[in-house]
Amino acid sequence: MALLFERHPHPSPRPASEREAVLANPGFGLHYTDHMAVATWTGADGWIDSGLVPYGPFQLDPATAVLHYAQEVFEGLKAYRWDDGSVRLFRPEKNAERLQRSARRLALPELAVEDFLASVEALVAADQEWVPAGGESSLYIRPFLFASEAFLGVRPSQRVTYCCIASPAGSYFPGGVKPVSIWVSQDYSRAAPGGTGAAKCGGNYAASLLPQSEASAHGCDQVLFADAQELRYVEELGGMNVYLVKDGQLHTPTLTGSILEGVTRDSVLALAADMGLEPVERRIEVAELLDGVADGSIDEVFACGTAAAITPIGVLKTPDRTVELAGADQLRFTTELRQRLLDIQYGRAEDTHGWTRRVV
Ligand SMILES: *Cc1c(COP(=O)(O)O)cnc(C)c1O
Repeated sequence: MALLFERHPHPSPRPASEREAVLANPGFGLHYTDHMAVATWTGADGWIDSGLVPYGPFQLDPATAVLHYAQEVFEGLKAYRWDDGSVRLFRPEKNAERLQRSARRLALPELAVEDFLASVEALVAADQEWVPAGGESSLYIRPFLFASEAFLGVRPSQRVTYCCIASPAGSYFPGGVKPVSIWVSQDYSRAAPGGTGAAKCGGNYAASLLPQSEASAHGCDQVLFADAQELRYVEELGGMNVYLVKDGQLHTPTLTGSILEGVTRDSVLALAADMGLEPVERRIEVAELLDGVADGSIDEVFACGTAAAITPIGVLKTPDRTVELAGADQLRFTTELRQRLLDIQYGRAEDTHGWTRRVV
C-alpha cells in the first residue's frame, strides 16, 4: 500500500523575514526548511508511521546501529524554480531507483519509487516558499535511510528510519564558472571491486575525506580516484563523475561496479548525443588522461553531479607532474553542455527528454 505523507504543520515556522534573509544568501547545506518527511521500517511490520512533520532533531540511543556500523544510504536531488513561478524536479525517479539499489547493497529495506516521490513532493509542496529564485539557485533535497535499531550485534538492522530534508542552495559558482584543480590520488582509492562504490552510502564519503585533505594540502580543489586494483584506470571524483572531450567525442569511464552511476552522468551522455558529440563509455587510463592533456590531444576535461551540474577541470596534479588544459577551446563543449543541462532544469529550453516533473 502506498505511504501517505500527511502534513503535520510546524507550529512555529520560520518567519517570512528570516526565510527571505536566508534565501538572499543561502550558501550550501547551512539552512533547512520547516518540515521533513519521515517513515519507519521494522522487520515485523514493514513501512509504517510515514508523515510530513516539523523539521527537528532525532533522539538516538547510543547503541543505534548506524553510529557503529554505518548502515546508511542517501540521495541528492534538486527542486528548481522556473520563471513562471512553478517548481520542478529533475528525473527524481532516477534517484528513487538508485536509493533502492544503494539500499539493497547495504542490506537496508527498499522504499517504493512512488513512496520516495510522494515524500519528496509532499516536502517541496509544503515548503515551496523555500525554493529560491534566480541565478543557479535551487532547493537541495536530501533523502536518506539509516539503521535506527539500538543493537550492537552485527546483522541488518530490524528498524530503519527514512527521512527527507531540504536545504536552499545558492549558485555553486557565484562568481561565474571557474575551472577547478584536481589531485590525482596515488595512495588511496575510493571503492574496490565488490565493495560499495556503486552505492551512495555515507561510508564512501568518510573514506574520501582524508584523500580530500591531501588534495587540499597540495593546493587542489578535488581528488580524482583511480581503480583500487591497479590504480591505473580513471574512476571518478569523491562525488562527481568525470569526462574528457577529444576528436569530437565525449569519453567517460564505463560503469565497472565501483563507480557511482550519476543521474547527471546519464543526462550529459544524452545531451552530448543531441549536440553531435559522440558519447563513448570505456576504460580510460590515468596515464592517457595526463599525457593527452599535456600534449593537447585532449581538448576538455570536466566533472558532473547534481550539486554543481558541470564543473570544468583546468589542472591535474600528481606528486611529480602537473598538466594544464591550455587550449583556447578548453571550455567549448563543457560550456555548451552545462548550458543545455541548466536550460532544461530551469525551463529555459524545451524538455525534449521528458526529464522534468512539476510539483507546484
Ligand atoms: C552522488 C554522486 C555522484 C553524482 O551523481 P548525480 O546523480 O549526478 O548527482 C557521483 N559520484 C559519487 C561518488 C556520488 O556520490
